[in-house]
Amino acid sequence: MKNLQTFAQEFQKEMGWEISTASYQDTRASLLNNYMLLTTEVAEVAEELRKSFNQTNRAIGEGMDESEAFEKAKAMIKEDLGKEFADCIAYITKLANYFEVDLEASFYAKMEEVKNRSNKDIGVSR
Ligand SMILES: [Mg+2]
Repeated sequence: MKNLQTFAQEFQKEMGWEISTASYQDTRASLLNNYMLLTTEVAEVAEELRKSFNQTNRAIGEGMDESEAFEKAKAMIKEDLGKEFADCIAYITKLANYFEVDLEASFYAKMEEVKNRSNKDIGVSR
């Protein structure tokens, strides 16, 4: 993850896509713009899921077995879903880098926190 964050930082610098730091107002606008772009990419993940469910339902309607239909739909979206995950990671790393957050350390610390949480939902699909 550290390598990924370093790569993202260098890539964003090379492309001229860094968070603006000219003034507080510029930084604020840049952070909000990048946050907006992140949420757009998250929605694009949902769009890929929607595509796979529609394709599955179409194939089931044409007589295909449900499991086979969904496996084919999953294969159909896999490449584009990967691209959308990558887009999400690009914006997450950009925001994390700006705030000097070590995502790997934060991830493991958060998962440990979740594991030890006492108010876990019971019987809920995730
Ligand atoms: Mg995208």
